[in-house]
Amino acid sequence: MPSEVLILGAGFGGLEVAARLSEASDTSVHVTLIDHNDGLIFGFSKLDILFGIATRDQVRCSYRDIRLDRVEFRQERVTSIDPHRRAVVTDQHTYQPDVLVVALGADYDHAATPGFVEDGFEFYSVDGAERLRDRLESFDGGDIVLAILSTPFKCPPAPYEAVLLLHDQLVQRGARDATRIELITPMASPIPVSPSASELIVTELAARDIRYTPNQRVRELDPVKHMAKLKDDEIRYDLFIGVPVHRVPTVVAESGLTDGGSDGWVAVDPRTLATPYPGVYALGDCADAPVPRAGVFAESAARVVAEQILAALHGGPPGGPFDGTGICYLELGDGRVGKVDADFLSGPAPTAPLRGPSRALKQEKERSAEVRRRRWFAGAAD
Ligand SMILES: Cc1cc2nc3c(=O)[nH]c(=O)nc-3n(C[C@H](O)[C@H](O)[C@H](O)COP(=O)(O)OP(=O)(O)OC[C@H]3O[C@@H](n4cnc5c(N)ncnc54)[C@H](O)[C@@H]3O)c2cc1C
Repeated sequence: MPSEVLILGAGFGGLEVAARLSEASDTSVHVTLIDHNDGLIFGFSKLDILFGIATRDQVRCSYRDIRLDRVEFRQERVTSIDPHRRAVVTDQHTYQPDVLVVALGADYDHAATPGFVEDGFEFYSVDGAERLRDRLESFDGGDIVLAILSTPFKCPPAPYEAVLLLHDQLVQRGARDATRIELITPMASPIPVSPSASELIVTELAARDIRYTPNQRVRELDPVKHMAKLKDDEIRYDLFIGVPVHRVPTVVAESGLTDGGSDGWVAVDPRTLATPYPGVYALGDCADAPVPRAGVFAESAARVVAEQILAALHGGPPGGPFDGTGICYLELGDGRVGKVDADFLSGPAPTAPLRGPSRALKQEKERSAEVRRRRWFAGAAD
């Protein structure tokens, strides 16, 4: 009987673990990959949906197109995880695999910020991006506030990309002169690991007259007066866009996997992504690893997890530790893209030099997305 590996979540992390195990051409391993959705929409495609560049159907990769040997995809909802027994219940089956990989990502807790459900917009979910796209269609001027409501959050550059692209859209529609845009963040700089990228972002914001307010957190909205409340101040808005508070999915919180992790995230060994439970790994956005929440870091963690699994099942060296590397692209509007080559863990201190921005890097970003589509979804269109 082949060893059974069960992967929960077919996002960046889960798909990459499955691809690595499949590529190992090890017929003694069978992988079951579970996700409640029928397809994947890459994080950065939400900006394309938001700005009307593509529809949800145009950027969706169907799980029907997964072509990975010895990997079986099942569309099921995970309803309980028992890490002690390595047992998983879904809406259709129960499982007790030899190895369990939890890659269920992060959910959004809109209600954590009072007033946000009633009077806020977001673009971090596909539904949210569509709703905000529709709202922007009728926006012809006023005060826009975009606020990062807590940390950690997915893709640290994304809020900055969104306001820069929003500026471009409003200029094209002739509504920019009548609009004031402000970005508020609880962080001291946009990308703390990369002073050069942070400086570039702050310069680009200033060049477009977008007000940048670091070290401040919007705690609450007043939906009647349309006021965003900070610790000692209030800001009026006509359109409030928030990066919602992130949490592990409820099924993960209820599993006990977050015990020992900081702030409700899954506790893992940062070198191996192993949880304290034998044969149970966690990676990507749900894991408390010392890297930002981004697909590229979920992928580099997936390489390590796949190596650990193969070594544990068959003996042999376990491969190197998680190096926390990943390339982040930074959309600056006007077709220009910057590139940050981050390395969080392999040296004595994190490094993240900036290249660009340039139009050539925009093409490189598009190619890197296409490489992933082809790697995970053989049926993906050009
Ligand atoms: C606007 C935006 C832009 C972004 N841009 C970038 C970028 O340019 N580069 C980058 O690297 N990252 C980017 N990201 C971040 C990136 O999308 C995530 O960090 C990445 O997807 C995390 O991978 P993951 O595997 O941990 O989780 P996910 O990719 O979120 O996968 C988790 C999967 O688990 C499934 N799931 C959850 N609960 C259940 C359940 N109970 N049962 C069954 N299935 C379940 C979900 O359907 C999902 O498919 C961006 C994110 C956003 C929002």
